Amino acid sequence: MSSNYKSLGIRPIVNANATLTKLGGSLMPAEVRQVMQDAAQSFVDMHDLQQKVGGRLAEITRNEAAFVSCGAATGLLLATAACIQKASGATYENFPNPPETQNEVIVQRMHRNPYDYAVRQAGASLVEIGTMNGTSPDDLENAYSSSTVAIFWFQGDMNQPYELSLKDVIQSAKKHGVPVIVDGAAQLPPASNLWNFTQQGADLAIFSGGKDLSGPQASGLVVGKWEWIERLRVLGAPNHGVGRPMKVGKEEMMGLLAAVERYVSLDHDHLLEVYEQRVQIWIQGLNGKGGLSAKRDYPNEAGQPVPRALVQLPDKLPKDQLVAQLMDSEPAVSVAPSEALNAILLNPMTVSDEETQIVLDQILSLIY
Ligand SMILES: *Cc1c(COP(=O)(O)O)cnc(C)c1O
Repeated sequence: MSSNYKSLGIRPIVNANATLTKLGGSLMPAEVRQVMQDAAQSFVDMHDLQQKVGGRLAEITRNEAAFVSCGAATGLLLATAACIQKASGATYENFPNPPETQNEVIVQRMHRNPYDYAVRQAGASLVEIGTMNGTSPDDLENAYSSSTVAIFWFQGDMNQPYELSLKDVIQSAKKHGVPVIVDGAAQLPPASNLWNFTQQGADLAIFSGGKDLSGPQASGLVVGKWEWIERLRVLGAPNHGVGRPMKVGKEEMMGLLAAVERYVSLDHDHLLEVYEQRVQIWIQGLNGKGGLSAKRDYPNEAGQPVPRALVQLPDKLPKDQLVAQLMDSEPAVSVAPSEALNAILLNPMTVSDEETQIVLDQILSLIY
């Protein structure tokens, strides 16, 4: 067969960047691939499978209920749609036509991010509160209206003390009878986030299956209250509703289940040691060489409690040039440019030990 990357002229990339969708997210471990392969060999009742997989995922993640979506972005879309649909009373067949009038989702200004497109795609109108400098309790209290259907919370490294805390938001939302949706797509590790947000009182929390969980790239995990998961499920495929264009295959459902089962049983303390060692290999191998200055940076770009290496470059070597040269090298190596500094960032989560060395060697070969 000629259906392989090589025959298409697609080069494998050593990923020292992050679990980026544009690089393929993450790599599935053998046990996940095997479960998907097994799942591919029989027809099944997909309604039944989604419910049974959801039940098992709920147990593993210590939640009332769970749902497998086609990526976290679909989870955001269906979660929002469920909130709008409850307010409007529409059935899945007629949602969202005619356009629903109760569709306001409250979001802190600081939580706006490119992925909230999925919230708006569900037909929500975002009601921004606060500024980039902060949000006050009054900002939130004044934002509720008879059209409010949900509060959207984006968990990330930008969460600051001067914004409203998740605890305060949940407390207020409960008073008003409004559900809280947490986008925690990239907030694993720590694995405890699989239950932390919902145990704090969030109604739904959403994670990418294709990032650190290392499940199928086109999978997402929604966990939370039974009532909301049930609404989401009805709006989703294989029903012919808003979620039908974002269907999840039986292979992805089983693959995500296997990935989550594996993830919660991993020795995350040991993994962290491995990450620290890789970062030290990069720092010791690069610091002081060819005008480079390398040090440990923490936490990483997603706010995950994981270190990375920050490598500052001499002025004569602009970061974008080095990033491009690494992508052109053999093998291709992807690293992240720093936003603020003339520096690159090396992420130990998406490489193997062997690739840690390859990244180091490629950088050394390019700086002299
Ligand atoms: C990656 C990401 C998403 C989208 O996740 P997919 O699984 O790729 O759909 C949504 N929100 C945030 C904050 C993310 O980092």
